[in-house]
Amino acid sequence: MKNAPPDAVEEQKCPSCGAAMRFDPKEGRLVCDSCGRTEKISASGEAQEAQLGGFDFENLAQQAVDPDAEALPIYHCVSCGAEVIADAQRFSLTCPYCGNNIVLTDKVSGKLRPDGVLPFQITSDTLPDAMTRFYKGKRLLPKNFFSDSRMGSVTGVYLPFWVFDGNLSGVLDYAAERSSTHRSGDYIITDTSHYILKRDVSVDFKDVPVDASGRIDDALMDSLEPFDMQQEQPFDTRFLAGFAADRFDQAKEDTAERARARMRSTAESIAHSQAGAGYGLVRQTGGSLTANLKARYVLFPVYLFDLMHNGNSYHFAVNGQSGKVVGNLPIDRGVSFRYFLLRMGVILLALLGVSVVRYFMGR
Ligand SMILES: [Zn+2]
Ligand SMILES: [Zn+2]
Repeated sequence: MKNAPPDAVEEQKCPSCGAAMRFDPKEGRLVCDSCGRTEKISASGEAQEAQLGGFDFENLAQQAVDPDAEALPIYHCVSCGAEVIADAQRFSLTCPYCGNNIVLTDKVSGKLRPDGVLPFQITSDTLPDAMTRFYKGKRLLPKNFFSDSRMGSVTGVYLPFWVFDGNLSGVLDYAAERSSTHRSGDYIITDTSHYILKRDVSVDFKDVPVDASGRIDDALMDSLEPFDMQQEQPFDTRFLAGFAADRFDQAKEDTAERARARMRSTAESIAHSQAGAGYGLVRQTGGSLTANLKARYVLFPVYLFDLMHNGNSYHFAVNGQSGKVVGNLPIDRGVSFRYFLLRMGVILLALLGVSVVRYFMGR
């Protein structure tokens, strides 16, 4: 263990009164709760030389990134001097001793510096309302689940994402059919022509996000989308004040496969619908698409908390722009069974309805 250099810790302090300043999502500014001073965050002076490492996916060099390889340095709070414990990923936090908001700048410098940030747009006090909307219509919940549960402490955290732009192009092969029927005397004749189609495909993509943190479930993060990329700001540590922030621990080369898979299925379904125009039956038989991708490193705003109920805890995540809630809820088996019967009843009625119609039509 070694001490981090003192200049590796940056603090957000009020120039008027010396209290901690925090980023206020509603105001979109730095705010001092002590004296009321506010500060606009304008695009930071240091022009962002976009480090968009473009790369041809097919020729990816294997780059191992081991975030735990370096021993964790010890940081000291600028205000009170206390030792601040931070794990390898976290670089923005609040000093537990004095409440000062600090950023560990050695984790956001050089290649680790984010290109952009999506600032928080909603405050954590809106979360109970968001949860109420989330529960609405969830009929399988145990009775009184909401009123009997306790919400754990909320962490507002900027999570690391790679945001991909790029193009997929290549040739896709399809087998297609076209049929026509005509009557000839007592016979109905169907002519079917078979075609082999080759289609040039080129689809451009913009802003496809892939989460770059190994400790958050990928599927959970995917379901938090969409994020509004129009709100992206050049990275500035002042947006982090009062929030936690984690650096990436999955290199962009390692997440590119997920980006490519998402783009490929979209490109194939677009290509399929166009290739099939004018044909009765079309199926893809082969071909391949080459991806040419670029990624930038952007911090996304997410609230995380647990809900405790009957000794179990349930994890939730909330989109810090839109308030969209994602999480797992328990299912009440009794309610579930009644719901099942109800649906069976509806289906039965529908079937009866169909047979009544048939009966009348048959006469
Ligand atoms: Zn102040
Ligand atoms: Zn402190």
